[in-house]
Amino acid sequence: MPGFELWGTEERKELNDVLQNGILMRYGFEGPRKGIWKAKELEAAICKTFGSNYAQLTSSGTSALTTALAALGIGYGDEVIMPVFTFVASFESLLSVGAVPVLVDVDETLTLNPDAVRKAITSKTKSVMPVHMCGAMADLDALKAICKEHRLLLLEDSCQSIGASYKGKYLGTIGDAGTFSFDFVKIITCGEGGAVMTNREDIYNKCDGYSDHGHDHKGNDRGAETHPFIGYNYRISELHAAVGLAQIQKLQSFLEIHRRNHASLKMILSQIPEISFRRIPDPAGDSCSFLSWFLPTETITREVVNELKAQNILAGNFYWYDNNWHYIRKWDHLKNAVTLSALHPDYKKAIMHHTNKDFAASDAIMSRCISTAISLLWTEEQIKDKGEKIVTAVRRVLKQHSINA
Ligand SMILES: *Cc1c(COP(=O)(O)O)cnc(C)c1O
Repeated sequence: MPGFELWGTEERKELNDVLQNGILMRYGFEGPRKGIWKAKELEAAICKTFGSNYAQLTSSGTSALTTALAALGIGYGDEVIMPVFTFVASFESLLSVGAVPVLVDVDETLTLNPDAVRKAITSKTKSVMPVHMCGAMADLDALKAICKEHRLLLLEDSCQSIGASYKGKYLGTIGDAGTFSFDFVKIITCGEGGAVMTNREDIYNKCDGYSDHGHDHKGNDRGAETHPFIGYNYRISELHAAVGLAQIQKLQSFLEIHRRNHASLKMILSQIPEISFRRIPDPAGDSCSFLSWFLPTETITREVVNELKAQNILAGNFYWYDNNWHYIRKWDHLKNAVTLSALHPDYKKAIMHHTNKDFAASDAIMSRCISTAISLLWTEEQIKDKGEKIVTAVRRVLKQHSINA
């Protein structure tokens, strides 16, 4: 998955351009920066690479989501439908703009179940936020149809799926807005960073101002710029943008490696008929940064996880069901609305109401799922070795079960 695995001379070269002139900020300082504008260059590269009209870089994927929500006018009184399997950033960003996260089930795509989305719509629903988890896409045709029918905004969290596509369009460019994260473990990295993509000029202009204290960025005197609305500082630095600029040039080669390694590993695991795989709405668009697979029951899955741990090969294999950061089961802080600053009591009640529900349908899927992260550095030999070790562990557990049955 992560671009940091292939750090090298390209990143150092881009960084050196910035270190040479010492202008670490993305705005202003026209003279001393001597034509070096890494953030602007990366935004242009994002537009070109992914086919988006506009891109706004931010300090993180989380701040990209917050910026997109604000630019879409989502806030007080609004409900946003999001999946129970994601990263905590999804609800963090919603809380940061005062919107209510409405949690709904996922299906075998590991993303929003469109039927569950339909059932969750109320008169307060403003937006649907699919999260393209583990490198691949949500069922976007179904979700787009729902948004159209109910006049809802579609905000794609594509933070984990840079370079993945759906029916020929890159994830993050299909909804009203979409976000990327360039944190250290994402498909390409800036160290820290994020981006909002949109085809709508009005949304872009709001993102541009919101992520820089409301600056309208008109004219060439920062102090004289006006502030049509209140913003925050979610700026990326030139140093981070420089790293991203090198990484985005390598994205296609990363994806090729992913796809090759993913196919090899999948072939090995396919030997076992009891293993099934994540449903991918458009397999050709999978970034292949993860291979996600299911076992028949939670008990068997837990025993396989324990077996992988015992053999010291669990690293890189994620059992999300027990993970504190990715699945609702362990989000007690959200379910109890534990915040440092006080919330309006009605808002707090709404958060607790929508998070303390029965998600048995998702439990039944997530408790049987293991995701194997695909490394850019694996050799064919290593993939074979890893795959065979997983196969042996699964066979051992399955045999034990057939003996006990
Ligand atoms: C990483 C991630 C984010 C947030 O990105 P940061 O850059 O770490 O703030 C948001 N959503 C998902 C699904 C992510 O994986």
